[in-house]
Amino acid sequence: MRYFIPLLAVMFVSPLFAAETGWKAGFAKEKLTPDGPMWMSGYASRTGPAEGTEIELWAKAAVLQPADGKPLVLVTLDLVGIDRDTSQIICKRIMEKHKLPRESLALSVSHTHCGPVVGKNLRSMYFFDETQGKLVDDYTDALPGKVLKAVDAAFAALEPASLSWATGASGFAVNRRENKEAEVTMLREKGLLKGPVDHDVPVLAARDAKENLKGVVFGYACHATVMAYMKWSGDYPGFAMLDVEKAHPGAVALFFAGCGADQNPLPRRQVDLAKNYGKQLADSVEAVLAKPMAPLVGVSTATYREIDLPLKEVPTREELIKQSMATDKYTAARAKMWLKQLDAGKDIPASYPYPVQTWRLGKDLTLVTLGGEVVVDFSLRLKKDLGGNLWVMGYANDVMAYIPSARVLKEGGYEGATSMIYYGLPSVWGEKVEELIVAEASKQVRGK
Ligand SMILES: [Zn+2]
Repeated sequence: MRYFIPLLAVMFVSPLFAAETGWKAGFAKEKLTPDGPMWMSGYASRTGPAEGTEIELWAKAAVLQPADGKPLVLVTLDLVGIDRDTSQIICKRIMEKHKLPRESLALSVSHTHCGPVVGKNLRSMYFFDETQGKLVDDYTDALPGKVLKAVDAAFAALEPASLSWATGASGFAVNRRENKEAEVTMLREKGLLKGPVDHDVPVLAARDAKENLKGVVFGYACHATVMAYMKWSGDYPGFAMLDVEKAHPGAVALFFAGCGADQNPLPRRQVDLAKNYGKQLADSVEAVLAKPMAPLVGVSTATYREIDLPLKEVPTREELIKQSMATDKYTAARAKMWLKQLDAGKDIPASYPYPVQTWRLGKDLTLVTLGGEVVVDFSLRLKKDLGGNLWVMGYANDVMAYIPSARVLKEGGYEGATSMIYYGLPSVWGEKVEELIVAEASKQVRGK
């Protein structure tokens, strides 16, 4: 329980600090804001490139090195999403340079809708010209180098640290499928907001021997969609990280998105609201930091596997030809993309290699990371099924589509069905999507 030792005593024991805590930690960040105007991601309605910067976008890296095992590397990106190919390139660069297995590395995006288009993520949503396409390709090509730079710097910054964790709460996320946006203020005042939410704020803190905060990782399950304007911005997570870093000079704050695919920060569309939600989240983090937190002790383990997540159906050539003439330009574009694949002699896949990852941090805390835009039912179910000391990160390692629960899949709508068009997948998910993901996560959490 070194955490409760007064400062003077800490200074005396500092030579033994690393051996005592069992950890070293290092943090760093690298700017991701595009140099010039380019196409922004997240909304199909934008008709031109970005026109300025509200706050900078960042790649941030946390290296957590246990005394008895391999380092764990968490990378958070102020981006709307990341496709499988780009993620694999980034991971390969880090794994080769730092001699790490895949399971030791987790990539996470904040899902800010005020970041650039990257790689093939949501590419079926945009119709830009060759010049804009080249800017996206160039940005994508440069991204792995920037991420690696942040990771290298975090390794270089490794120092003995005490790691501790606790969970706070923040209440601005609203279930967007169950509440009309225009009525949210009134419904909130009357206590009538409906639908499942996950208001947990997981917080992992790293402090040096003098108790200074070196880095803090925190999460929240809510879309980063306060703003839909033409400026680069990390949206509410960006403001939250800024607030935390301002309060702790020298510390790096990393935000990860939870299972917030069906959650919105409401009301929205004003910069002051983005700042306000950022402050609410930062205040929740500070409240956690100010109280005793549980120390991370014991052996850490990591598991990463990709499971075949079945799609409902594989469209035939005839169906695709029909879809390619649809009046909806996104449906037509998706069909043309898959027809091209058939013309090249390649089959249309019947499933998707879906990433599920588990980090057991010390003996008490488990982090499950899931790919895609995961709806809130997953974190609520996993926490209920597998115990309270569990955090769930969504938007991790590969953002290939929305990931609906069985309930949301059955209900349909944007998260259950139509969003698949913008992600370019050939059909909606098969009905077993929830069971397969929960089964794999459960297996990993139980150490199998
Ligand atoms: Zn989304």
